[in-house]
Formats: sequence, structure tokens, C-alpha cells
Amino acid sequence: MKFAELNLSKDILDALEALKFEQASPIQAQAIPHLLEGHDLIGQAQTGTGKTAAFGIPVIERLDPNIREPQVLVLCPTRELACQIADQFKKIARFKRQVSIVSLYGGQQIDIQFKALRRGANVIVATPGRLMDHINRRSVNMDSIKTVVLDEVDEMLNVGFKQAIDEIFERIPNRERQTILFSATVSERIMGMAMRYQKNPKLVKIAQTESSSANIEQFYYEIKERAKPEALTNLINEYKLKFSLVFCNTKRQVDEVVRNLNDKGYFANGLHGDMRQSQRDRVMNSFRRGETEILVATDVAARGIDMNIEAVFNYDVPEAAESYLHRIGRTGRAGQTGKAFTFVVGSQIHKLNTIKRYSKGQIHNSKLPV
Ligand code: AMP
Repeated sequence: MKFAELNLSKDILDALEALKFEQASPIQAQAIPHLLEGHDLIGQAQTGTGKTAAFGIPVIERLDPNIREPQVLVLCPTRELACQIADQFKKIARFKRQVSIVSLYGGQQIDIQFKALRRGANVIVATPGRLMDHINRRSVNMDSIKTVVLDEVDEMLNVGFKQAIDEIFERIPNRERQTILFSATVSERIMGMAMRYQKNPKLVKIAQTESSSANIEQFYYEIKERAKPEALTNLINEYKLKFSLVFCNTKRQVDEVVRNLNDKGYFANGLHGDMRQSQRDRVMNSFRRGETEILVATDVAARGIDMNIEAVFNYDVPEAAESYLHRIGRTGRAGQTGKAFTFVVGSQIHKLNTIKRYSKGQIHNSKLPV
């Protein structure tokens, strides 16, 4: 479906053209009409499906730029994601005058955020903890909020933001509030949240086959633990990969893989939860600029990385099938093709079989290049 068929203003259509978005993705085609009409909505979609624009486009379209108080609140689990959402919103709002978007997240000096808020914001993109901090300091006011988006709700619940979210909702007037939930999975807990905060939500989801994993070639290799370093570089060389993302289950493993790669002359950098925000930003920027060829990360640190990566490696089999889908969703974005490689040691094959069932058996057993 073309965006022109979706009843959008010229300002937004021009911005989408500048972004080179030609066709609406399936989640966008389904969600945007409901959201433009002001309905509440539960959207089931992973990263890579275009979900940010699926809520971003209608939310910005409906915003009243003349009101200089926060009208739209987007909550998400990590600072990286908050920055990306704010960034995409700014691009969508590019030709709309007086739309001002402020992101509030932990790890950035609060003074900078005070200043941004004082200048006036009509859209707030925040992580729940830092937003509560601002609410308690009275630096932000929730009285005029009309639209709330909870992005990656499953992740926010996983990392323990339930209470902060409940407290935030207590501060938001619920008359005429539009509440939008987006999540990769829709569990009972999420439905509970929907019942508490939404009114007759529309449900939209994209079937597994329509999701981004359809254009990702997936392979796995049964190997010994000690063969992994060589397997990794062999695959990088064989497929002439310029930019890849390697997932490890532990921070220690991240450090070790980075060290191994650096020793062999690759430009690799690590990203994990123990690093300071400034260090993480430095690593991400270097990857964005193409100076780092291989980013090695834990699940938490990599959440929200929004770039089209050629290949994703599971250096370790992830603990849950869901994280497998999340991990490989970093490649094959927006119609591009991608590759995913998984290393399996011994009895981890059982874990992989579960993942295979979950992802409809698209992961092929393969032999390493020699
Ligand atoms: P998301 O699922 O929101 O993380 O988006 C994944 C990527 O797809 C982002 O880099 C977007 O800029 C891009 N994208 C979103 N919608 C479209 C579209 N309709 N056409 C092309 N690219 C898109």
C-alpha cells in the first residue's frame, strides 16, 4: 500500500518521501488508519517491521503544534531505543512547524534535559525510570498528555518497569486518552495491562511469515566451543561481511571475542550493560560511521540498534526463542536481505530445536567453510 492512500497531510507525505519510504509496511498499513481515527491499539510487531513509524506517523499527524505542553508520551525500555524513536519522530515531523520532541533517559545529565523541557516540548520520548524522576522533580507535567505509546511493552515488563509505568499512568488524565501498546509478543501480562489502560483496543499483528525473518537466511553449525573463534572469522571472510553483529550471552564472552578479533586484525568493539553511557555512545557512533566492522554485544546492550546489519551471529545459542528472533531482527530490515549464523555446542541442540519450532523451521544445518 502506498502512503498516499492513507489520508495523510502533505507535510507528512513529503517527510516520508524524503525518508525514501515508498510503500507502507504491513504493520503500518494496518495500524495507521485506526490510529488516525483515534482508536486505542495493540500492535504485535518486532523491530525491523517499521513499527516506530506505524505509531509515529499518526501520532505526529494528530498532534496540535499550537499547544506547547507535552501531548504525546512514548515510553520505551532503553535509552538507545528512546534516542532512535525521537530521531525517527523528528524526521517524520520535519515539515511540521512547532513540533518539538524531547527524549528523557537515564545516563544523560539531568540538567540538559531540564533545559530542553524548559524550551517547551509537545512530544516526550522517555524511559520510565527517568520520566518518574522528572515527574517527582516537577520538571515535566503530564496534565496535557492525550496520547500514550508504550513501545516494546514485553521488554519493559521484563526489565521491571511495571511499577514505574503504573505510577506514570496515575499522573495522566484518562479522559479522551489514546493508548497504544506495541510489543513483539503479547502475553497475559500485556493483555492485563491493556485491560487496565485501554478502551476497546483494535488488535493488529503481522503473521510470522510477513515478519522480517522471511528475508533472513538462517544457518546453524554444530561445533566445539574452542572452534568458535575460527568459525567466526571464516564465515566473515567467506561471506565478505563488512558489518556484522555478534551476540554473546555474557559480558565476559563479549570481551573475549573482541580480544580474539582484534588480535586477528579486525576492527571489533564490544557493547555491554556494564559500560558507561558515554562509552556505549562512542562504540555505537564508531559502528554507525563504519569504523567498527564487528560489534560484539549482549542482548540488553544491543536492544534498539537500528541499522541494517548484513549478518548477525549467535556466538552462543540464546536462552529464549524470543531473543533469537529479536537478535536476528537486526538484519534483513525493510526489505533488505540478511544472514544469521548460530553456533551450537553439544546439548544446546535441544535449545535450538525449540527455537526452530518457534521460527517455523527456517534455520538450516550447515557446514563451516574451510
Ligand atoms: P523499526 O521496525 O521501527 O525499528 O524500523 C526498521 C527500519 O525500517 C527503520 O530503519 C526505518 O527507518 C525503516 N522503515 C520503516 N518504515 C519503512 C517504510 N515504509 N519503507 C522503508 N523503510 C522503512
